Amino acid sequence: MDTIDAVVIGAGVIGLAVGRALAQRGLETLVLERFDAIGTGTSSRNSEVIHAGIYYPPGSLKARLCVQGKAQLYAFCESHGVDYRRCGKLLVATNEAQCGKLAQIAAQARANGVDDSKPLAAAQLRALEPELRAVAGLLSPSTGIIDSHGLMLALQGDMEAAGGALAVLSPVEAIVCGTDGHVLQIGGETPTEIRARIVVNGAGLWAPGLAGVTAGLAPQHVPTAHYAKGSYYALTTRAPFSHLIYPMPEDAGLGVHLTLDLAGQGRFGPDVEWIAPASPADIDYRVDPARAVGFEAEIRRYWPGLPEGALAPAYSGVRPKLQAPGEPARDFVLQGPAEHGVRGLANLFGIESPGLTASLAIADEVVGMVMPRR
Ligand SMILES: Cc1cc2nc3c(=O)[nH]c(=O)nc-3n(C[C@H](O)[C@H](O)[C@H](O)COP(=O)(O)OP(=O)(O)OC[C@H]3O[C@@H](n4cnc5c(N)ncnc54)[C@H](O)[C@@H]3O)c2cc1C
Repeated sequence: MDTIDAVVIGAGVIGLAVGRALAQRGLETLVLERFDAIGTGTSSRNSEVIHAGIYYPPGSLKARLCVQGKAQLYAFCESHGVDYRRCGKLLVATNEAQCGKLAQIAAQARANGVDDSKPLAAAQLRALEPELRAVAGLLSPSTGIIDSHGLMLALQGDMEAAGGALAVLSPVEAIVCGTDGHVLQIGGETPTEIRARIVVNGAGLWAPGLAGVTAGLAPQHVPTAHYAKGSYYALTTRAPFSHLIYPMPEDAGLGVHLTLDLAGQGRFGPDVEWIAPASPADIDYRVDPARAVGFEAEIRRYWPGLPEGALAPAYSGVRPKLQAPGEPARDFVLQGPAEHGVRGLANLFGIESPGLTASLAIADEVVGMVMPRR
């Protein structure tokens, strides 16, 4: 059986970033992907926003890795020619009752090291965005948008330049951990096995399921997977805004916000719909046209001028949640040998937003967890 230094499972933005980081540190690295292309999962079903890091509890992995990852990502986009725009974002309170929450988020942003956000009064908001209705807001100048597919291609390119490889149509079906390496059972048309000293489970929505078929990993380290679908609607008219516009965050998401893609097309979403598929393979990603009514009501709170019938169902993504509906929000879980005691194994759970922004920082963190100290 072939033995290599490192296998990363999943060619989403996280798996590719980790594969690149391992290959660049001189390890013979293979990224295995179940489907026939990179980035067909959550990494191509999101808002493509480079988040500033204002929302997450100070000291959390989400806060630290978002702020660190944002700086790394802007630098990476510059050096690798990945399309991005630092367009800035407005987080808005649409009534007086939300102002306390806004002030709390502003304080949290400062505690997270986001030192460029600026409180704005209603008149200042109107001057920036005349169509916006809000009583107060927070300008986040370091929020931006990115071509997520361009990012993944650049990560793959770097990984391959460093000697790493990608194998598509290679679903990992089980892992058997051992003291002299971990054996991965790979299905597909020509099932095979491979042994690796380092295994990183970056399987996104599938990560808990894969941990569940990892022999040698104690069951208490396998979380229960929960899923929260978020649907998007495209704006069929021109968006009268130049910033991204976010309402106050809600329980399991950031609220139905306006993002702009790099071509200037406006889209709204994602909302929050808890779903319970038997497996991620059973997820129905279609957008229910009936949800448009709820979207219009949400959007008109901050954009009363939204024209009738201007929303068209676009696409959806599913957040890999670690909490059940109604439970407190959970942090990313980057689980390495220090947590589960299995040398060379890392499981990445709950990598929802801001995972895209934090991808390069997560990769560095994972390398620190699994690379043997010299
Ligand atoms: C609605 C929504 C909006 C979001 N918006 C933003 C945003 O604006 N900004 C931001 O920073 N983040 C955002 N995120 C979060 C971000 O998209 C994710 O954190 C990130 O894409 C996760 O990447 P991943 O590589 O972990 O997962 P994925 O992209 O899902 O990749 C996992 C890969 O593993 C593969 N795989 C699974 N099982 C196996 C197996 N057994 N063998 C081989 N391969 C396997 C899958 O096919 C898939 O390709 C958003 C997320 C959602 C859902």
